[in-house]
Amino acid sequence: MKTAIVWLRRDLRVTDNVALTTAAARAENVVPVYVVSTWREFHRWTGANRQHFLCGCLTSLDQNLRTIGGRLIVRRGRAIDELQKLAVETRAQGLFFNRDPDPFGRRIEDELTSFGRDTGLEVVGCKDVSIHEKDEVVASSGEPFRVFTPYARAWTKLAKAGAKGRLRKLRSIESISSLPLPTLETWGLKPAADVLEAGEKAARSRMKAFLEGGLAGYGPGRDALAQPFTSRLSQDLRFGLLSIRELLRKCQEREADLSANGRKNAQKFIGELIWREFYLNILWHFPEVLEMEFNPKFRGMNWPGKQENFELWRTGETGFPIVDAAMRQLNQTGFMPNRARMIVAMFLTKDLLLDWRLGESYFMQKLTDGEIASNNGGWQWSAGTGADAAPYFRILNPWTQTSRHDPAGDYVKRWVPELRDVPPAKFAEPPGADQRLAKNYPAPIVDHAQARERALELFGSYKAKKN
Ligand code: FAD
Repeated sequence: MKTAIVWLRRDLRVTDNVALTTAAARAENVVPVYVVSTWREFHRWTGANRQHFLCGCLTSLDQNLRTIGGRLIVRRGRAIDELQKLAVETRAQGLFFNRDPDPFGRRIEDELTSFGRDTGLEVVGCKDVSIHEKDEVVASSGEPFRVFTPYARAWTKLAKAGAKGRLRKLRSIESISSLPLPTLETWGLKPAADVLEAGEKAARSRMKAFLEGGLAGYGPGRDALAQPFTSRLSQDLRFGLLSIRELLRKCQEREADLSANGRKNAQKFIGELIWREFYLNILWHFPEVLEMEFNPKFRGMNWPGKQENFELWRTGETGFPIVDAAMRQLNQTGFMPNRARMIVAMFLTKDLLLDWRLGESYFMQKLTDGEIASNNGGWQWSAGTGADAAPYFRILNPWTQTSRHDPAGDYVKRWVPELRDVPPAKFAEPPGADQRLAKNYPAPIVDHAQARERALELFGSYKAKKN
């Protein structure tokens, strides 16, 4: 093949990138392209933090491609239009991409495949985003799994990380025009929170630090809100700065050197990577989850909460220290630990009885690692409407969660400065009626015990109606 285009999306790396390696092995000239979206149509799904991180990833990708003889071509507009134009302009014979489990990406892949059929362009989709794809982990009936545990068991039986692909030097065509690399101004966005350093090199050093220093103690530490015990690799996996095959392989190699306890923790971490694939798989098989409840029993449910409470939740002004700390951390940094995500999501849906879609969309606008499959999965799980849902009557108590996961109050004090002088024991129990923990800090907006009863009644009666 003389010329091949490689369409890059959530795979912004040169190391072990299946579409890039395959195209480079088959074509003399390789044209890696990123199509910058026109943003407006995606406003519900992204925000300044993630776009900021994306800009850093593209800059680094371009630099990395240049070190191996290539460069990144940037186009802007509807991906299908831009890729078709580029194919004509470069007289490409092939177009390679890594398959995307999300329905927006898949729609464009289908359009590209028909374009290829009509024009003779060879369109090649590669497996790269996950260890196993849609039809590889299925029940013996051939049906997709709807719950995590049997999915994980089947996934583990198949799991082989696979060897790293070897990329040869690239040859690019100098005459192809490219727009400048995007900046936040490209979308008219303001500078974002101070997000983590972007790019493949930064991601690889985070991976190395975690494998050497964090993996062996991962299990017990992962829920400690004030400590950085987790890997912080979620945005790197979201943007494909790391190959999931390489990460899994390195975990397995490191695991072999650990004590029995360390090996247990490494398995716990691999279990989280399986959750990621489980939710990708759910989205692949059931794309309707983006619009409606996964569990049919709760479809069309009415969420009677007050809109003004959403504002207090969003800004971290609910009077529940753990909820407010987490929301302020999200607003200031674009990140929130998993335990805190569960607490605030349950609080919004069960204590405030507000629609999970409000929280899902807010998270997508703020999280640097915002990923529609895991985010939707996490929200529906917390709301009790999702795959492998916690039964709706499992409702996290924000006060006891605080004593368990932030016993010294360090997390709360870090993000809610009004409470710096308050003894931490006070963060773990509701203040008396009409009392405040500090002069300039609000009283709790709901009584958790009463809110819990209301939620149980609402979910219970809705479920009974549907039966
Ligand atoms: P680690 O604990 O180090 O885990 C390693 C990797 O495993 C993560 O990077 C992630 O890729 C994966 N992972 C870990 N926990 C989960 C999980 N529960 N579900 C799926 N994958 C998991 N994760 C996202 O990547 N993007 C999201 O938009 C997102 N939204 C969420 C929303 C809610 C309401 C909830 C409850 C969870 C959400 N998660 C999301 C999952 C999880 O909270 C984050 O992946 C994790 O906190 C990222 O930190 P880490 O990289 O240090 O994780």
